[in-house]
Amino acid sequence: MTSRRNFLKGTLAGGAAAAAVSVSVSGPACARDNNPQPEGALGLLYDATLCVGCKACVAACKEVNGNPAEFSTPEQLWDTPLDTTAKTFNVIKMFRSGTMETKDDPDNGYAFMKTSCLHCNDPSCVSACPVSAMTKDPVTGIVGYDADACIGCRYCVAACPFGIPKYDYSSATGKIGKCELCRHRLPEGKYAACAEVCPTGATLYGKVSDLKAEAERRLSLKPGTKTVFQRGQLGGKDQSYENVVGHYVQHVYGEKEVGGTQVIKLSAVPFEKVGHKPLPERSASSKSETLQHTLYGGLVMPLAVLGVMTYFAKRNVKPDDDEL
Ligand code: SF4
Ligand code: SF4
Ligand code: SF4
Repeated sequence: MTSRRNFLKGTLAGGAAAAAVSVSVSGPACARDNNPQPEGALGLLYDATLCVGCKACVAACKEVNGNPAEFSTPEQLWDTPLDTTAKTFNVIKMFRSGTMETKDDPDNGYAFMKTSCLHCNDPSCVSACPVSAMTKDPVTGIVGYDADACIGCRYCVAACPFGIPKYDYSSATGKIGKCELCRHRLPEGKYAACAEVCPTGATLYGKVSDLKAEAERRLSLKPGTKTVFQRGQLGGKDQSYENVVGHYVQHVYGEKEVGGTQVIKLSAVPFEKVGHKPLPERSASSKSETLQHTLYGGLVMPLAVLGVMTYFAKRNVKPDDDEL
């Protein structure tokens, strides 16, 4: 009959052998690259130099998403959210410096910055969600949310490098709120409400490839010269007007950060000063999924855990009398 000691010896040896075979069969894990942007990706170009801080986009976002006003002043007179919440998907934040004399001046100036989901090319919220409640549309690239599938684990909240998805603690079942690029309006032939209402075209909707070309065009122009800016939707109804070119920082934010995003931004104030810290070009999802593949792909982790558990079990088992 097999004694406990022999059984444990066998298990330990078997686990180690299986791990060795598994590693040699599966070979070294391949690091996965950033997921590419879909060809027809839709998005926004936010140009902070054109933004006048009117917050029409914040109000329109609330309206089309059926979100209530949120107050941050004791008077509670009007909608004054300070950041994105489960019921505020878009906010315009203000940068202030010294005397705040000149718009878009990093010293003694002020500037605006839009905060909403950037619809990452390789979104960590999608990668982290264990039940696929967060998904990326393969055609439009829009990162959508399915409240029915959500189990309220909040992994997406922790995973997002921009702090965008927010948990709704007032909901009985738990719910996440974030911008879904107005995807519910697309079947009606409409587009992002924030871009539709923006009076200056500071928020512009369109195909990301076209928006990138437009961003590059603006960066190539001499500050102070006059040029034509579109409003609403690139390639849509002509709502163009003439304005002067801002003193842009020569950087399209979102072109490379975390593998690229579908909401891209231009600013005259360095991005780190307006709440956009420098981020690596490699997406967090590509790193974490490579690690998971390494640990679980060849069953290395489960077998290693089995080996450790077996070792401790063996140490704690009193030897059988007949083997003394
Ligand atoms: S509607 Fe346009 S100009 Fe007004 S705050 Fe929003 S982005 Fe800025
Ligand atoms: S910004 Fe955050 S919530 Fe939006 S797609 Fe990227 S990871 Fe997801
Ligand atoms: S695209 Fe729609 S949901 Fe997203 S910020 Fe604009 S209005 Fe809000």
